[in-house]
Formats: sequence, structure tokens, C-alpha cells
Amino acid sequence: MSAELVTVSYIGAIILFILTLGGLSHQETARKGNLYGMIGMSMAVLATIFGPQVTSNTHLIVITMLVGGSIGITLARKVEMTQMPELVAILHSLVGIAAVLVGYVNFMGGSGLSGIEKSIHEVEIYIGVLIGAITFSGSVIAFCKLSGKISGSPLMLPARHWLNLGLLIASIYFGYDFVHQGHVGGDPMIPLMIMTGIALLFGIHMVMAIGGADMPVVVSMLNSYSGWAASATGFMLSNDLLIVVGALVGSSGAILSFIMCRAMNRNFISVIAGGFGTDTGAVASGTVEDQGEVVPIETGEVANLLQNAKEIMIIPGYGMAVAQAQHTVNEITKTLRDKKINVRFGIHPVAGRMPGHMNVLLAEAKVPYDIVFEMDEINDDFPTTDVSIIIGANDIVNPSAQDDPNSPIAGMPVLECWKGTTTIVLKRGMATGYAGVQNPLFFKENTRMYFGDAKESLDAVLKELQ
Ligand code: NDP
Repeated sequence: MSAELVTVSYIGAIILFILTLGGLSHQETARKGNLYGMIGMSMAVLATIFGPQVTSNTHLIVITMLVGGSIGITLARKVEMTQMPELVAILHSLVGIAAVLVGYVNFMGGSGLSGIEKSIHEVEIYIGVLIGAITFSGSVIAFCKLSGKISGSPLMLPARHWLNLGLLIASIYFGYDFVHQGHVGGDPMIPLMIMTGIALLFGIHMVMAIGGADMPVVVSMLNSYSGWAASATGFMLSNDLLIVVGALVGSSGAILSFIMCRAMNRNFISVIAGGFGTDTGAVASGTVEDQGEVVPIETGEVANLLQNAKEIMIIPGYGMAVAQAQHTVNEITKTLRDKKINVRFGIHPVAGRMPGHMNVLLAEAKVPYDIVFEMDEINDDFPTTDVSIIIGANDIVNPSAQDDPNSPIAGMPVLECWKGTTTIVLKRGMATGYAGVQNPLFFKENTRMYFGDAKESLDAVLKELQ
């Protein structure tokens, strides 16, 4: 393939990637967006493999792609919807480690450049390895936290901000050392390796210090870092497509993080610095404190309350994903709407375990988009709501985020369902949610606890309603 054709393919791929982002911003166009992305990526990969930069060993690239692709397909087919965030986190770590490896290979191969061009190239390598290593170790820790392999509680080292500052200053010092031809140990490889260790440590520390319900912002931040790591790799390899695509991922991830920070009332800068959201020193206990009596409710009463309501708000959370109850939720919604009851959905920005988790599930079950609302759009409507039905949600409807300044989720906006006439909470027992804090909502006078697996409970309600 000629260089001109490669350039044309790259431009085509870039246009398709931009269309992908546009498509993914609306539920109605998300499928089309994904399709553009797949076509764009295929064009990009083919143009790179058959372009003039790959001069030998094409068969090796094809074999490794087949091996990697098969592992990817197997994992993607096997993964449960509730494990998607872990999969995304571990995939980010692969982008990070790729940037580190490309950086090292690039440096060891020698650039053949001299003077200022050589220095610029070395700065590119240094920054690529730095961002890549932070992304790698941070994503591995995020994977472990999301999959419950390590505790979700924040690790609060003394003087942790000073530690971060120290690591940053050390990275800058070794960067200077690296570009000025290795004062440490007389070999530029040594400062590069020391910095890699520091960056790995920073990534671990940054994510270990995150606790409470603040993980979503970190996941989208790591998404952004993985984009910048890819972009830095593009500079190292002089590959314009990788530079642009990395920048698209990096900037869209940063915008998403910014939106989530705003939605969760967190400071964007302290997210990037790490260890945010826990300044009060509050650590989730994970224990269930006794906050009074809970009032259980039976299937027949739930069906009665729903049939006699005029305004119903459904609030789905992580438990709906676990129970895979979305299809029954859609059937109940249809049945109630046929009875001329106004049913709406309230979606919290961090409900579930990844951004948009609930929207994906509801779209899969074919819940009409026009009755699904963001938290900001419906939070003022609870006082006129007859029944709010909470399906496997916990942290996102926790009033202590507003009432208890010492709570690990203090300051996080929540869906104010307790302001409605009756709240029905579907969950299996009294376990806490992701943040590990007890929820005073369950003990309120107008709350009824409907215990059981959300799918089984809702199947029973549907039967009763029909
Ligand atoms: P939570 O994790 O707070 O609560 C989920 C609740 O679902 C649990 O209390 C559990 O209680 C219940 N549950 C679990 N399985 C079932 C089942 N089969 N049937 C019925 N209930 C069930 O979820 P939320 O959606 O309210 O909040 C999301 C949390 O996750 C937030 O803290 C958020 O910050 C965090 N997070 C979000 C991410 C995102 O991007 N959206 C990423 C990472 C973390 P029980 O066991 O008693 O049934």
C-alpha cells in the first residue's frame, strides 16, 4: 500500500472516529456510533499493517493479532454485564503497558537523531513511559478494587499529598537527567527505569487512596490517561493517526471526568492529584449500624401501591444489573402505563458500576428513552411522586450524603426519593452498597423494604399486576 493511500485511510479513520464519538453521545445513535468505530479501526489497522512502515515480519503481526483478538473475543463473550467496568479497567492497563514497552523499545533502538530533535524525541519517550506506567498500575488497582480482589476502602498514608508532590518532583528531576544523558549511573536507561518505578508507585497510590463512592471518576480519569498514553506513543512512532485518536480518547475521557466530577460535587483538580473525596478522614466501615426499625412489605401490597399511584418513579441501581431484572422492569412499566399511570425513570450519574450502566440496561430491555431522565431533570419532582421504587440501588439514594458531613459520600448529590409519598426499596437484605455505608433511607417512616432478589420480586409483582 502506498504512503498516499495510507494517509487517505488514516484521514477516513479519523473522520469515522469523530462520528463514533458523536454517535455515542445519544442512546438512539449509539449502535451506529459503534459501527463507525469498528469500520474506522479496521481501516486503521489494515492501512498500518500493509503500509510502507511495516517492511518485514507481517506474518508475525497477523499471528499476534489473531492470538490477542481471540483472547479479546473470548473475554468479551464471557464477561457478565456487571463485570464490564473491571474489563474496561484492565483494558486501560493494556494501553498503559503498551505505551511503556513502545517507549523502551524506541529508546533502545536509537533514533538516529541529534541536537534538539533528539532531545524532543527523548522527552516524547519519557512522557509516554510516564503516563503509560501511571495508567498501567492505576488501572490494575482499579480492576482489583472493582472486582473486590482488594478492599474498596481508601488507603490513607500520612502526608499523602506531600508524597505525591515528592514523586512528581523526582520524576521531573529524572526527566532532566534522562535528556541530559544520564548523570545517574552514567547511563540514560537508569533515570528512565527509576522514573518508571516512581510512576508505577504513583498510579498505585493514586487509586488506592480513592474510597467511598468516588471510583467512577477515577475510572473515567484512567480512560483519559490511556488516551494520552496512546497519543504519546503516536509521537514516539511518528504516527499521526495514533496521535489524533489518543487525543480524542484523552480529551473525551477528560470531559467525561469533568462532567462526573460536577455531577458528584467533587473537585476536578484534586481528582487528578489523587486521594480526593476522603479529606474528612471518614472511612467506610462496611458494618450495619442499628438505625431503628425497617418495615417490610409483601408482593400484594407492592402491586396495590403501584396500581393506585398516579406518579411513579423507578430508580435502578447496581442490584438491577446483578439480578438482570431490566426486562421485567420494562414489562411492569408497560402494564402500568397501559393503566394510564405516569411512570418515569430517574438515573443517577454514577448508578451501577460504569458511566451509563443503567441507560444501557434499560435500552437493552427497550424501555422508551423519553421516560428515562437524568437526576438533575427529575430531582425536584419527588414531592409530587406517589411511589418511588428503588431497584437494587443504595448509595445513590442515601440521604446521609446530604445530612452527614462525616460520611464518605458527603457532598455527593443523591436522588431525593424520600420526599415522595412512599418509597419501596427492593434488595436482598440489609447489606451496604459500594461505598460501604449504611443507608438511613431504609429506616424512614415512609419507606417499605421489599426483600428478595430484584428479578424474582418483580416477576411476582408483574404476575399480581396482570
Ligand atoms: P450500590 O452498590 O450502592 O448498591 C447496590 C445494592 O443492590 C446493594 O445494596 C445490594 O443490597 C443490592 N443488590 C445486589 N444484588 C441484588 C439483587 N440480585 N437483587 C436485589 N438487590 C440487589 O449501587 P448504586 O447503583 O446505588 O450505587 C453505585 C455505587 O457504585 C456508587 O457508590 C458509585 O460511586 C459506585 N461506582 C459506580 C461506578 C460508575 O461508574 N457508575 C464505578 C465504580 C463504582 P443487597 O446485597 O442487600 O441485596
